[in-house]
Amino acid sequence: MKISVVGTGYVGLVTGTCLAETGNQVTCVDIDERKVNMLQGGRITIYEPGLEKLFERNLKEERLQFTTSLADGIRDAEIVFLALPTPPGEDGSADLKYILGVAEDIGKLLQDYKVIIDKSTVPVGTAEKVHAAIARNYKGEFDVVSNPEFLREGVAVDDFMKPDRIVIGTTSERAQKLLTDLYAPYVRQGNPILFMDERSAELTKYAANSFLATKISFMNEVAQLCERLGADVDMVRKGIGSDERIGKRFLFPGIGYGGSCFPKDVKALVHSANEVDYDFQILSAVMEVNERQKQHLVQKIKDYYSGSIAGKHFALWGLAFKPNTDDIREAPALEIIDALVENGAVITAYDPEAMKNVKTLIGDKIRFAESQYECLEGADALIIATEWNEFRTPDFDKITSALKEMVVFDGRNLFDVAAMQEKGFYYESIGRPTVS
Ligand code: NAD
Repeated sequence: MKISVVGTGYVGLVTGTCLAETGNQVTCVDIDERKVNMLQGGRITIYEPGLEKLFERNLKEERLQFTTSLADGIRDAEIVFLALPTPPGEDGSADLKYILGVAEDIGKLLQDYKVIIDKSTVPVGTAEKVHAAIARNYKGEFDVVSNPEFLREGVAVDDFMKPDRIVIGTTSERAQKLLTDLYAPYVRQGNPILFMDERSAELTKYAANSFLATKISFMNEVAQLCERLGADVDMVRKGIGSDERIGKRFLFPGIGYGGSCFPKDVKALVHSANEVDYDFQILSAVMEVNERQKQHLVQKIKDYYSGSIAGKHFALWGLAFKPNTDDIREAPALEIIDALVENGAVITAYDPEAMKNVKTLIGDKIRFAESQYECLEGADALIIATEWNEFRTPDFDKITSALKEMVVFDGRNLFDVAAMQEKGFYYESIGRPTVS
């Protein structure tokens, strides 16, 4: 099939590449000329495991192309995906200016039937708005479908190639048929394509992300209780997770959720609820708990130094909002940096993929190290903010000899508490006993 993907960021590039991988002809459109030039020139713009190989192969086979021209991008396409940003507006609502702006332009360019697909996360009613924006300038036949994306950064290629489910909101039989054919190679194992109306599909995405954020905030509160009551959250987590109704996944406490999706999507759902006079109380608490949790590790650090961290030098492992990505949008590490630097501390950071993005964002506010061990040289303590695998079983002798003091503040519970005690570290983590 001939496909166009408008917006070539994390979702658009993965979508375009993975659709090309099954033999489709894909043209990706982006307004960012630098990005388009890089991609068309064979240089990938994001770090996502497994993506580069697929990207190179499909570019070489000429199944994947990039352009800044919307007209060229959609001319021959039967299906046009919108993978555009939906950032939070000032009131927390999702800002639809990118989506509706492009929809308006598409309306001016359409000459034949196409299916326009909202892949971005958009509030209930957006498919109708996109339809209206296109229909202002195009009187022929077309369909607008809501097809929210559930991929997770870090495992996005796997998620796209073998999704747990595909949600498609449309009442058009023609669009249903096209999308069933398009997605057939991705659901060979029998995972469902769930057809529903547009509004239900739009709400499904927000409900999914909000539920996951709720799980995180819930466990962060359990961890807070564990710290106060002398329980171990790892034990409690295993104890509750073995109940199939609860499940083992997504029960890890930490330093709060971040990233480009959970914070904005929870906020947007609360806003949508308010608009229809509904107070979504649980989600208000989820956001509040998350804000508090992001400061929890900072508080522990301050407490350890009796309130004064001025002049202290910290090594920080991890900047990305989660492992296996270079994405730093709303990364908890950034808040930790802000809080510590504001209080006069000096930070040297290391992250396997995200340092370039952080450098661009905050310049020389902190130092960056070449390796996880160089990062430790002369630091008073180690802080862990992202659970990259390479941090899980480090060389503790190197840590011991590089740090001024054997002090570790672990926001991701990477190490065994008893083992850290045995090695002689002062070790604080989340929801588990502190040892020294
Ligand atoms: P992104 O910021 O990485 O990418 C958006 C891209 O759109 C950018 O490359 C930008 O240059 C481009 N763009 C902006 N205006 C444009 C225009 N007028 N024409 C063409 N291109 C334009 O965003 P993302 O992370 O890919 O997210 C896109 C959407 O998908 C959001 O709604 C997000 O909530 C949703 N989503 C994201 C993820 C994720 O993990 N990142 C997962 C599921 C859903």
